[in-house]
Amino acid sequence: MEQIKIYLNYIKDIINGEEYLSDRDKFTLVLHICAFSHLLFAILFLGFGSILMMLYNLLSFLVYESMISFVKNKQYVLVTILVSLEVVVFVILSTLAYGPHLYFNLFCFLMIPASFYITNICKAFKKPFLTSCIISVFAFGAFLFSVFYPYGNYDNIVKFYPVLVVITKVLNIFVTVLLLGMFSFIFTLEMRNSTATLENRNRQLKKLSSIDPLTKLANRRSMTEKLNIAMHLLKKDKKVFSLILGDIDDFKKVNDTYGHDCGDKVLVMVADTISSQMRDGDFVCRWGGEEILILVNGNLEAAKALGDRILEKICANEVTHDNKTIKVTMTFGVAEANESLRIEDFIQKADNRLYYGKSHGKCQVVAQIPNTIS
Ligand code: GH3
Ligand code: MG
Ligand code: MG
Repeated sequence: MEQIKIYLNYIKDIINGEEYLSDRDKFTLVLHICAFSHLLFAILFLGFGSILMMLYNLLSFLVYESMISFVKNKQYVLVTILVSLEVVVFVILSTLAYGPHLYFNLFCFLMIPASFYITNICKAFKKPFLTSCIISVFAFGAFLFSVFYPYGNYDNIVKFYPVLVVITKVLNIFVTVLLLGMFSFIFTLEMRNSTATLENRNRQLKKLSSIDPLTKLANRRSMTEKLNIAMHLLKKDKKVFSLILGDIDDFKKVNDTYGHDCGDKVLVMVADTISSQMRDGDFVCRWGGEEILILVNGNLEAAKALGDRILEKICANEVTHDNKTIKVTMTFGVAEANESLRIEDFIQKADNRLYYGKSHGKCQVVAQIPNTIS
């Protein structure tokens, strides 16, 4: 009972994409199904009074069960060849015995999709397409043989064992459809799961490629995308936006005095402080080494107010490193977007104001250079 529960949970996890059927699981399942089918066939042939076919099927049952040890040794190619050969031999033997009308030849058709599936999902096959084509040709050959073989003892068994004949036909159709359904189901499941996994990985990669690993802020690439969108919205909907370009003051000194690790801590503190001040529609990125660029959803005044608030917070914050307290200041240049400006010129305008601030005492937010119109 407990074992059945575990098995059912396993199937549920596979369907939900949380577990995968390994090659070993798949081959083991196929071998068990083949073995079980041959056991059933042995009983049916016993019913028809065909001792030879009964013995053949009993032997097949034992061979399939013992082939599981090949699966354990990952001899998937050998197992595939043996299974294909056995199916072909079985179809020919059953045709020789009773002609095609018991529908054992349906298994030839099952072999075609199954061989393409197995050889393509299992990495052990070096030439999956060629292998599955060869298997398919053999399977089709056995099918043609069964259809055109003119002899067989079918008339006798249908006369003496009509019920058993119907049971055999129904069973063969049922097993073929069941196995076809199983292969299609597993194949679809795997396709769905691998698509979901790929989409997930793509999402993770996209996230990783757009984030600065140290500060966890967006990087320059994602800011460029945002700027292009903002510029487009400005032209289309007159949606005003501004930029704040910030640079940590005397950061080299922090690195030189306290070490690069301490410099990194300061950068993280600055990034966290700025992030905490962002409102809807604002977007912040690490533009360069210790330069931060903020896209502000608002005009020059709003951006200047935000810059002042950020500066105040940064000046109030501190970083502790090796029992020392480090405080930093920043200088910001602010500019409002203008439809007639290219993005680069617009960033340059903020940079000019930042530069002005740097050369006029640092630790300030510059939204206008006195006595100029730029
Ligand atoms: P200023 O006030 O004029 O900006 O002076 P500054 O010393 O900050 O000069 P500058 O902006 O040119 O210095 C940038 C320094 O930032 C140099 C570089 O070593 C450091 N830096 C850049 N990226 C990192 C980083 O990821 N970690 C650390 N610790 N330092 C960095
Ligand atoms: Mg600096
Ligand atoms: Mg700098």
